[in-house]
Amino acid sequence: MPWGGRHTKNTIMRKLRNVTVLGHKIDIEYKTWHDGQFGSCDPDNRSIKLSHACLKDDELHWATLVHEVMHMIIWLTGVSHMEENNEEVYVRCIENLVLPWIDENKHRK
Ligand SMILES: [Zn+2]
Repeated sequence: MPWGGRHTKNTIMRKLRNVTVLGHKIDIEYKTWHDGQFGSCDPDNRSIKLSHACLKDDELHWATLVHEVMHMIIWLTGVSHMEENNEEVYVRCIENLVLPWIDENKHRK
């Protein structure tokens, strides 16, 4: 596209600059992966990266942020430092089973 014009076809969601996780300020950056990855978590640098694709899809943006924040929380708890690190399994369990259950049962509070 000449002149560096911007796409206006899609709704561009507001970028997040940072979030707080258990009292830690976590920087949020956006990048483009070419293998379909949507996010990554770098606990040592207190940083989460989200795909630019997330900015065009509200649900994907939220789901990816939640997923990467779970990695950050699990790292902060120390679970990631176990000899055999199965943290992806815990993250998937929470996101696919625990969060949907909470969502479906919110009205019971
Ligand atoms: Zn993951």
